[in-house]
Amino acid sequence: MVDEEVDSDALRRVAERRSTMLAMVESLTRRLHGIRESATWTASDDEHDPEGVTVAFERAQVSGLLDLARDELRELDAAEARILAGTYGRCQVCGRPIGDERLAALPAVTTCITCTDRRRG
Ligand SMILES: [Zn+2]
Repeated sequence: MVDEEVDSDALRRVAERRSTMLAMVESLTRRLHGIRESATWTASDDEHDPEGVTVAFERAQVSGLLDLARDELRELDAAEARILAGTYGRCQVCGRPIGDERLAALPAVTTCITCTDRRRG
């Protein structure tokens, strides 16, 4: 195992993406706490209070985003492990290279665009 075999560009991209996602988790967590605090002031009659519905909706939306961000952090850890193992950048479905552009945009991605589309469709 020679150092040159590790894709340092990919490692750097994953590290950059991770710090972006960590900042996002932090800001979403703060936002969620803010919503909770304001909700205690208006939590009298959620069903008939239009503001209560808005708060519940916003809270669901923010916690959904938070889940996604945390998922991506886990995927970034896995991506880093794949880089170090030398298996990074290959589609986990068809085994073909994922493509540099796609990896640059989504460093934690595990499937090529063809397989992602097929799975979605
Ligand atoms: Zn594929």
